[in-house]
Amino acid sequence: MEVIHCMGCGVEIQTEDPNGLGYIPKSSLEKENILCKRCFRLKHYNEIQDISIEDDDFLKMVSSIREKKGLVVHIIDIFDVNGTMIKSLPRIVGNNPIILVGNKMDLLPKSTNQRKLIQWLRTSAKDIGLKVEDVFLISSVKGYGIDELTEQIDAYRKKQDVYIVGTTNVGKSTFINRLIKQTVGESDVITTSYFPGTTLGFIEIPLDDQTSLIDTPGIVNSEQMAHYISDHDLKIITPTKEIKPRVYQLNAKQTLFFGGLARLDFIKGERQSFVCYFANQLPIHRTKLEKADELYHNHLGELLSPPDEESLQTLPPFTQQSFKLENEKTDIVFPGLGWVTVNGSNTTIVVHSPKEVAVSVRKSLI
Ligand code: GDP
Repeated sequence: MEVIHCMGCGVEIQTEDPNGLGYIPKSSLEKENILCKRCFRLKHYNEIQDISIEDDDFLKMVSSIREKKGLVVHIIDIFDVNGTMIKSLPRIVGNNPIILVGNKMDLLPKSTNQRKLIQWLRTSAKDIGLKVEDVFLISSVKGYGIDELTEQIDAYRKKQDVYIVGTTNVGKSTFINRLIKQTVGESDVITTSYFPGTTLGFIEIPLDDQTSLIDTPGIVNSEQMAHYISDHDLKIITPTKEIKPRVYQLNAKQTLFFGGLARLDFIKGERQSFVCYFANQLPIHRTKLEKADELYHNHLGELLSPPDEESLQTLPPFTQQSFKLENEKTDIVFPGLGWVTVNGSNTTIVVHSPKEVAVSVRKSLI
């Protein structure tokens, strides 16, 4: 097939992968001015469609930001910070200023201390070498924090372009679609014309005569749980409403299962409460430690579900990690699933999670 480029964003047109960059249905190949599905939707429905690409392509593509000048807005999912903060971002964006935006605030309990959360996000960013100018908390779905963020973006961008970057599923499209409605209303928003050789897959939405907001494709992070489970299971583990913490008073030698996707063994320590922050619809099972292996082997995919049958084909086997907690209130984080807060003095815990989805601990968020 002759190589054709999209008139909108310049990406190479393909007809095989409906979720990939540059897709059009075969039947549209006959048309004269070909727009990829993503640009087509933007032009006709003023709607950004989520596109995902693999790590290497993303790096190549987004690294071109380094050569440009502009403000980088890094959107993360506040419910899965470890899974959605892009560790390679400093390399990608060069010296351009970055602001960090925690989306999906509506999922956290109302009692969440936002100042503490912002501080914690700053520290997490710093730990991976990400210097951020500022941190904001929003809910793209509910509209919370959006006005302040757009004002601040306008101030920080200093009349330059704005690049929106994030991993898939953080709510990037929801956010941009909201902005489009607010700023350009129903007008035709594609301005990018095709320059031969630019196959960047960036989409530009005009902010004023000179500058644009640029949507970059979402990077797929292989450390995300979402990568390994079926769509049906993803629905179960993804919270859609404010999380109601579930509290378990446990003695040592007791175990909690989160569906069959993760497991926490309380090995040693005083009787204490384990506060679980997971999607309200994810079942949690408590059992004795001595019975846990048997339960897992006999009932995975049944009593302990998700995973469903489809996920069982792709889910990596469990690995375990041991954590010894001292005096501080600590969160044990299962990326993409949720976390458990333990008060823990001299507490030993063993966690089990799918091999690629490593558990971590952090100073308590809430
Ligand atoms: P993208 O892949 O980053 O473009 O993410 P999308 O905008 O497609 O959103 C991914 C999923 O997260 C969708 O199911 C959205 O409804 C959901 N989502 C996006 N923003 C929010 C939010 O502020 N709160 C909640 N609870 N869900 C959100």
